Formats: sequence, C-alpha cells, structure tokens
Amino acid sequence: MTIYNFCAGPAMLPTEVLAQVQQTLTNFDGLGVSVMEISHRSPEFMAVAEEAEQNLRDLMQIPANYAVLFMHGGARGQFAAIPQNLLHGKALYLETGQWSVAAAEEAQKFGQIERRDLRDGNGGLDLSLIGDSAGFDYIHYCPNETVDGVAMFEVPEVQSPLVADISSCILGREFDVSKFALLYAGAQKNVGPAGLTLVVVRRDLLGQAAKSTPAILDYQLTQDNDSMYNTPPTFAWYLSGEVFKWLKQRGGVADMAAVNRDKADLLYRYIDDSSFYHNGVAKAFRSEMNVTFQLRDPELNHRFLTEAESQGLLALKGHRIVGGMRASLYNAMPRSGVEALVAFMDHFARTHR
Ligand SMILES: *Cc1c(COP(=O)(O)O)cnc(C)c1O
Repeated sequence: MTIYNFCAGPAMLPTEVLAQVQQTLTNFDGLGVSVMEISHRSPEFMAVAEEAEQNLRDLMQIPANYAVLFMHGGARGQFAAIPQNLLHGKALYLETGQWSVAAAEEAQKFGQIERRDLRDGNGGLDLSLIGDSAGFDYIHYCPNETVDGVAMFEVPEVQSPLVADISSCILGREFDVSKFALLYAGAQKNVGPAGLTLVVVRRDLLGQAAKSTPAILDYQLTQDNDSMYNTPPTFAWYLSGEVFKWLKQRGGVADMAAVNRDKADLLYRYIDDSSFYHNGVAKAFRSEMNVTFQLRDPELNHRFLTEAESQGLLALKGHRIVGGMRASLYNAMPRSGVEALVAFMDHFARTHR
C-alpha cells in the first residue's frame, strides 16, 4: 500500500531525496562518517552550506543585496527576532489567521505594535482594511495561513517595508523578493526537517538590532559569521540543500507552483461538487498548500480519520483550533496522493450517507 502523508508539519519530504540521503548516511563524501558527525567548519560541510545557499538563491531569484541567513528557533523564533532587529518606533501587523495573530502577540513584547484584522467575515480577506500604511518600521503579514487554509496571493501595496512569514508556502509559489524587506520560513513545512529557519533580508536592514537582542537572534551577527555564530543545525541544512537540488531538477518554483495549483484545484473541485464535504474559505483566498474541509456531519470525523489511515492516507486531522480536516499538499506530495485522497473521500461519502 502506498502511504501518503498529509501532515501540516513536520511534513513529508521527497521520497527520492530521503532514499538518496540514506545512501550517504554512514559515509558522507567518502569520509567514513555521516554529515551529522563532522565539524560545521570543515571544508566538506562548508561546501554543503555554500551550495545550499546558492541553490536557494537561484530558486527564489534572490538579488545580491539580500542576505540569506540559516538560523535556529523556527518561525516563532523569528516572531521575536524581527521586532528586536527591525523595530524602533512602531510596526503594523496584518491579521489573516492563526499564525499572523501569534506573530503580532509575540511582537507586542518588544515595542509598539498596531494590529489590523483583514478577515471579512465571509471566509475571505479585504485588503482595503490595510488602510494607511505609511510611517511603520515594517508591516508584517502571512501569505499562507497554514492552520486556516487561507492564502493572500496578492502582495499588498504598502508604503512601509514588507515582512512576510512564508513558512508554509516558501518554494511552493513564486515571490518577487525585491518587493520585501524580509521573508522568513521554518524549514519543516515545505523545505526540510525541523530545526532550520530561513531568513532572506535586505542587507541595509542589518546592524540595527536593539542592544538587548540575544546574540543568536541578531541578523548582523549571524551574517558576519556565515550563519555559524554557534553550531547550526547541520543535518537539517544538508537535507534542505538536497531538497533544493531536487527542486531545481524538477524545473524550479514556477513549475512547482503550477503543479501545486493543479493538485489543490482537483481537491477543491471535488469538495465543491460534494454535498458531503464543505470548505468555507472564499475562492480567491483558498490556500494551494493547506486545504481545510469539514464533513457536513462532524459525528463521522473519527470514522473518516480511522478509515483514511487504514488506506494509507495519514495526518488528515485539522488543527484543533479550526477542527475538521486538513490536507497539506506541499511540494513533496505527488498528484497521485491527491487522486488517492479524492477517491477515498468519494468512497467514504457513498458508504456513509
Ligand atoms: C508552522 C508555522 C509557524 C510556526 O513554526 P515553528 O517553526 O514551529 O516556530 C509559523 N508560521 C507559519 C505560517 C507556520 O506555518
């Protein structure tokens, strides 16, 4: 039986990459030891680190005036790092779901934060609610709300530097990096294993951190030390680098984005045509990465999950805050996984009417 893992994160990784990494696990680069057991400052690891950065730069077309930082602490670490590095007066946080709200709450510990909720009450977002956007040190938003299954595809036109949490959509669709002051992502959704956090930041924003900023959250210090001020998560860095190579071989982000849209459309179309399932997100804001859906009869939730699991369809339970179901369709999920899910959902609907 083929297993398809729909977990929101840590999420599935490309099977080809895992198989290939397994080959090198006890003997990396002919050294007779694994990549986990060598110094981060060894020439072998430095080569891994540099190649990964270059491949990420190529994939995202990151301009030279942006630094790429490989950090710790996950996206939540950045919820704290961003205000400590960039906040001097006030910042604006746009709220579109669970994660952008959490980012705003953390930032409030560090200074003056204004919060504006963009949710229109009909499952969509109203970008006109952004309002006056001038005079902020930065404006934070989340283009893909992993928990809610809500996406903002348009980059908001604003008059202050833009910061985006792209944890669950990095490399899944294209971003014009030059429109942003900073982009960041925890690796464990669409890149690699947990433990690594990617930060792409315009270089002129470095060196402005508050004096109290912990050293491992300081962007300038991180940059000055090539992301090795302390020991980086070497294995996560290495494996993420292998995923970057895999992505390049498959045509890069534009090709992946088209595949992702097609996968998500297949599932949304089935849900919309069905009276058994329901998705309440307005069509223009439906995430292509995290598809949330409810059974019309929530009494059947447990049975749905148990039967899905017995068919090899794993981790479809929605986030506890939202309830229902969630299928995460990151880059590593093949179309055949979505086809198997739709076939199962259809069978389940027919047999439980
Ligand atoms: C998962 C997620 C986070 C939290 O990530 P951690 O790495 O666990 O801190 C933050 N934002 C978004 C959009 C996420 O999907």
